[in-house]
Amino acid sequence: MRNLGTGTWPFRRVRLSPDKTAITFRGRTTTYRELDDRVTRLAHALRSLGVRSGDRVALLSANHPAYLETLFAAGLLGAIFVPLNARLAAPEVEYALRDSGAAVLIHSPALDEVARSAAGSATRVVLDDAGYEALIADADSSRIDEPVSHDDPCFIMYTSGTTGRPKGVVLTHGNIVFSVMNAVIDLDLDSYEAALVCAPLFHTAALDFVALPTLLKGGNVVIEEGFEPGRVLQVLERERITYTFGVPTMFDALSTHPAWETTDLTSIRRVIVAAAPVPPRTLRTYTGRGIKICQGYGLTETGPGALILTPDDVERKLGTAGVPHFFTDVRIVDADGREVGPGERGEIQICGPNVMREYWNRPDATDDAFTDGRWLRSGDIGVADADGFVTVVDRLKDMIISGGENIYPAEVEAAILDMPGVTGCAVFGVPHEKWGEAGCAAVALDDGYDLDHERLVAFLAPRLAKYKIPRTLVVVDEIPRNATGKIRKDELRRLFA
Ligand code: AMP
Repeated sequence: MRNLGTGTWPFRRVRLSPDKTAITFRGRTTTYRELDDRVTRLAHALRSLGVRSGDRVALLSANHPAYLETLFAAGLLGAIFVPLNARLAAPEVEYALRDSGAAVLIHSPALDEVARSAAGSATRVVLDDAGYEALIADADSSRIDEPVSHDDPCFIMYTSGTTGRPKGVVLTHGNIVFSVMNAVIDLDLDSYEAALVCAPLFHTAALDFVALPTLLKGGNVVIEEGFEPGRVLQVLERERITYTFGVPTMFDALSTHPAWETTDLTSIRRVIVAAAPVPPRTLRTYTGRGIKICQGYGLTETGPGALILTPDDVERKLGTAGVPHFFTDVRIVDADGREVGPGERGEIQICGPNVMREYWNRPDATDDAFTDGRWLRSGDIGVADADGFVTVVDRLKDMIISGGENIYPAEVEAAILDMPGVTGCAVFGVPHEKWGEAGCAAVALDDGYDLDHERLVAFLAPRLAKYKIPRTLVVVDEIPRNATGKIRKDELRRLFA
């Protein structure tokens, strides 16, 4: 076998556990043998649509087994999977498709309108019986053995950036293997897992920390289309879920739901909460219920794990994000590039075989992202204690995390500056009880113009994903700047938080 890629995992699993359930979705189960057959056929179908090694295949949908099938099928061909955030507006999807040069766009019927207007030259495949399912049913099922190495790209995942233009994070098959091994080792995952995916599958955490490690071990991946707390509690009990991942707001929504007290959660072996600062009360609520909870810290660029606080350390090291994952190294570096010791603040930098290869077609951005060769700059500020446990204390990069979704102000500001009459704009985060942080826009206007929040939302809605649209607006005479012309967001936060 020349194919060392992730695409061969279903096939490799068939040799070990062909009749075990691999995926549960909408009450239907798929065994490893069935998964392997569907993946092989889908790879032939993609090939018949012209997809070759190195080509890109995009997917735009709510959570669906097609995420895993397409990832594996693309991997069998040596093609690259591009999962897209299902909440993006049409111009944002169009940008990602153009930037990645996607040859095929698979999308759910619910996102037909966005997909049609964004697809450009990409061939569209609708995730329904007449489209996706018919392609699979009609395709050849003979084994495919394209050569794929660990250095070949597996995914491109788009994250916005401080420059306002989203960048495609390229993760190789080797990156995925090490990310998945980090999860298997540090979260102690096993073959009996029933792992619930209720976080979005277009993010690395749900893929690399839940779905893929579970499939590697031969467990059952239970996929929920979205996150509805009452439904998720029912699924946790009914499917005897042993493991899941979520962002802090998801875990808070579960523990404050009326059914929380009466739901049987005794099957859970551990859960992981990550992607945003985790309030200690969230961890305490779960440990108080006897549920082992881990906290993770990382970035899409680290695929996603960098630090992990395991249940054994939660009480002792509450408030920290833990220690580096098994195959990953982390250091704290000051503004002069000097590695600092315990108790001193500095940028968190990450190195390891899980760290991305590059940003797609962006050599300058790639160069800026790394220092000293292979250390990735996180843009987060941390401090390590004498035992090596790192606390994330601040952010260097201009980013808001609202309900686990990252909002890059530069991107939102660029969209607002396109509004007639707007002369200046700054978007910044303010504390929010439910979402952790919420975006606020300060806008300066030309004489004779006025603006209210409703009109701002109406202008931005066709241009930006809903979660990026500021929840509040303040009209100011002037945007405060420092001597070098940089916007004083600290001042704005102080005035309007
Ligand atoms: P993403 O690329 O969407 O995974 O976002 C990465 C960013 O999320 C990091 O650079 C951090 O700013 C933030 N983040 C992730 N996990 C944590 C955590 N446990 N505590 C604080 N911030 C976090």
